[in-house]
Amino acid sequence: NDFEDYFLKRELLMGIFEKGYEKPSPIQEESIPVALAGKNVLARAKNGTGKTAAFVIPLLEKTSTMKKAIQGLILVPTRELALQTSAVVKELGKHMNVDCMVSTGGTSLREDIMRFYQGAHVVVATPGRVLDLANKGVVDLSNCNILVMDEADKLLSPEFQPVIEELFRFLPSERQILLYSATFPVTVKQFKDKYLPDAHEINL
Ligand code: AMP
Repeated sequence: NDFEDYFLKRELLMGIFEKGYEKPSPIQEESIPVALAGKNVLARAKNGTGKTAAFVIPLLEKTSTMKKAIQGLILVPTRELALQTSAVVKELGKHMNVDCMVSTGGTSLREDIMRFYQGAHVVVATPGRVLDLANKGVVDLSNCNILVMDEADKLLSPEFQPVIEELFRFLPSERQILLYSATFPVTVKQFKDKYLPDAHEINL
């Protein structure tokens, strides 16, 4: 397979090739077409497999920068991972003029609020902070049709799980979930059964 086979936007393809990716990795080959088709995805994926681009590419393909609204939310368990992931969004989306915002705990809430008023297409966040901003009406998730959960085994810790379930109330009913996890503990299985029972499963 080649990246050209997915009929991606030219601007996105340029970002992919500029990053030096020549061919999709196995996780990308499995995820990208299914995600582009609008299906929920549940993938067992370790770091270093190219999983970040596996969800960022379909997310960017489905993001219209003509529309000033948050269209994709990527939930991650730590600020460090949020920063790494947003760097990938910015690089792959370089020619799309995509506005990607990082919002996590441990930073000034006030500054986050100011930044959100400038608008974003994609948000990479830890659950608590983005729920806080959604509750305050600062973050509008009503156009956010794609939710990515990266390192879902960590995201579904007892601390985060209720926060994520509450966050779901702000998402549109027509939403696609792309869930990536290195391991599949019972918390992830139960979450899957509840929110994405129809998910296309990838086990590499
Ligand atoms: P990840 O598993 O997302 O942390 O990615 C691991 C590394 O693989 C990162 O340095 C990526 O930039 C790189 N990478 C991801 N996809 C590809 C690809 N299709 N071809 C070459 N390198 C890639």
